[in-house]
Amino acid sequence: MGLQGTGKAGELRTGCAVPESGIYSVSHPQHHLPGEVTLLKDRFFPRCSRCADPIYYTLERSAPAGTSPFGFEVTLYELPELREDESLRG
Ligand SMILES: [Zn+2]
Repeated sequence: MGLQGTGKAGELRTGCAVPESGIYSVSHPQHHLPGEVTLLKDRFFPRCSRCADPIYYTLERSAPAGTSPFGFEVTLYELPELREDESLRG
């Protein structure tokens, strides 16, 4: 499967339609968001819950059409900021 080089970084971001179901890595240095999310085709890329800046996404692993490899549907409209404080305490 040689799909490398066909996509350009930065095209996938908040508000754009998800081109294909799969796992997407999240790039949003402004806030500490989940590292990757599962998104479904024809949905829209979620926004940040903390600011209006776009989140950029990169397809990590696409899901075969017509199947539900994740076992459930995930619909996200925004990504919550992760709290580092809690995990650092101990
Ligand atoms: Zn943000």
